[in-house]
Amino acid sequence: MQRPQEIARVHEIDLPVKVVTGSGALAKLPELLENLGNYRTLAVLTGPTVGPTVGKRVESSLSSYGFEVHTHVAAASNAKAVSEAVNFAKEVGAQLVIAVGGGKVIDVAKYAAHQLGLRFVSVPTAVSHDGIASPAVSLKDVNGYPVSKFTKPPLAIVADIDAIAQAPHRLLASGFGDIIGKITSVKDAILARKIKGEYVGDYSLALARMSAAMVARHAEAIAKHEPEGISVLVEAAISCGVAMAIAGSSRPCSGSEHNFSHALDLVHPDKESLHGEQVGVGTIMMAYLHGLNWRRVRRLLQTVGAPTNCEELGVPPEAVVRALLIAHRVRSRYTILGEGGLSEAAAWKLARVTRVIP
Ligand SMILES: [Zn+2]
Repeated sequence: MQRPQEIARVHEIDLPVKVVTGSGALAKLPELLENLGNYRTLAVLTGPTVGPTVGKRVESSLSSYGFEVHTHVAAASNAKAVSEAVNFAKEVGAQLVIAVGGGKVIDVAKYAAHQLGLRFVSVPTAVSHDGIASPAVSLKDVNGYPVSKFTKPPLAIVADIDAIAQAPHRLLASGFGDIIGKITSVKDAILARKIKGEYVGDYSLALARMSAAMVARHAEAIAKHEPEGISVLVEAAISCGVAMAIAGSSRPCSGSEHNFSHALDLVHPDKESLHGEQVGVGTIMMAYLHGLNWRRVRRLLQTVGAPTNCEELGVPPEAVVRALLIAHRVRSRYTILGEGGLSEAAAWKLARVTRVIP
């Protein structure tokens, strides 16, 4: 229940101006840009895999509409890639940044645009995490340390269901894991409200909760890349972005399961696992701590083919336990992990009981 003084607080919410999604949505991009404002010089940021296919297509369709298009390929999602993108956009005199790619490209473009004081348009070719529409960015700093930044959401989003359905399954399963994580992040936010008196609006929590419920209901369709499943995954990611924009922080969408993922990035930086894959495994364990149905979370992840244990993540059991032991202090955010975190015995037990480690 929101108290009167909380309702009376002044909220400023930045939201995307336009969302175009569906089959063939990509063809609408030039027209959309023309209606967004006086943007003629565009920096298109794309990735090494998507660049030669969808990136090229976007470039030629925008050029044929008379836009001045400059394409840059971002190879990674770290501070170096961001500064390269910033320099590139400056050199070409970009008025707007367009991100064409998966979660990593979108993160780089979002943060580069933020540093340049420019807006960006999100053209996801995969939904590997919930950042396609959100104001939040997760990156690695120069020392490989994970950093989370809160910027502005994209000015517009063009999510072509056909293009996203072509994405490698692993990326979509990772996006599913990130969104399933809202099952525990919402519970953590409620706990922080009760224990720390932190303000988190009910509306943003309801949106985050609904996103998880929707992808759960469509797990099989997502697993088969059916258009309906892909649409739900895209819409759920957009709803998460809106939830964060309304909350003014990533709080509704990032709790103890994300702490576990960030902690794993720290203790085992060389692993190949993706953000959403780690969040999914974190959600199984944090659901157990919250007294939720962790077996259902595990089953849902298995349905879409997302990792549910350390072997599938490609990390040793010790790394999972070490991550659990530091997860409570990777961010100053109150969660089910409390202020003191887990004891070593409890961390081993938690990972074993939930079958994350053998
Ligand atoms: Zn996430």
